[in-house]
Amino acid sequence: MKDLTNEILELIRRTSSSLPPDVEKRLRESIEKEAPGSTARGALETIVKNIELSRAKSTPICQDTGTPIFYVHYPLGWSTIKLKAQIRAAMEDATKKNYMRPNAVDAVYDNNTGNNLGGDDFPYIHFEEIESDDLVIELMLKGGGCENVSRQYSLPDNNVGAGRDLAGVRKVVLDAVQKAQGQGCAPGILGVAIGGDRGSSYIKSKEVMFSEMGTRNDDPKLAELEEQLTKESNEMGIGPMGFGGKTTVLDTKITGLSRLPASYFVSVSYTCWAYRRRKLTIKGEEVIYD
Ligand code: SF4
Repeated sequence: MKDLTNEILELIRRTSSSLPPDVEKRLRESIEKEAPGSTARGALETIVKNIELSRAKSTPICQDTGTPIFYVHYPLGWSTIKLKAQIRAAMEDATKKNYMRPNAVDAVYDNNTGNNLGGDDFPYIHFEEIESDDLVIELMLKGGGCENVSRQYSLPDNNVGAGRDLAGVRKVVLDAVQKAQGQGCAPGILGVAIGGDRGSSYIKSKEVMFSEMGTRNDDPKLAELEEQLTKESNEMGIGPMGFGGKTTVLDTKITGLSRLPASYFVSVSYTCWAYRRRKLTIKGEEVIYD
């Protein structure tokens, strides 16, 4: 089995220092929606300038390089033990090279490990065996500030008058956006999971954000709700960084899960404008970065 430590290191560098083209395009488009001379427009212009500088200098787009979340889709025969070791070695090297800020803090003893390696949970790695000859490693660097404004609801929720249906889902998602008030560095992206248990619901609400901006759920009802939530969030006037304006949310992604008859969870994972996600594909001898 090939040693991919260097390729994974490059994946980390690209993810930390540059946004995917679809995200950058959406941010640039949103500048035009804000009034000339407004604080909202100024904030978006600064964000875009920051992206250009970080890419040119290979420096992190934000001082918080986020929680590293890896999704590894591997063909039959690859060793997950070896892949995990290579990911951890690449993460340590990326920290030495300052592509990543040392971000792993032991929550019990409050000490920073200094190398972005915690126990088994940091970096977070999900392995999935697939029926393909290609190996695909996806990486998301999920900011801490936006994680703080993510929310989970157990429906029915009498505080917002949300019942156990899509109308109730709409109410709690908009409640989460309203409560965030631009904290967590708006404009953001909403990842929403309907159903599951508390754990799986949160995990899936992040997983759904690996898809490209503008792609819609195959289910027309959920696709419609995705569009509606983005539109209604932007009508709240919260704006970039909470400065007011028309751009609060860049896109919404929803996934529907199974649930127990007793529970109806809705998890809203909020991701900041620094929507860092990248993909590495190993196709025989070919190495592809998206
Ligand atoms: S929420 Fe995002 S943009 Fe804001 S500080 Fe954290 S990583 Fe950076």
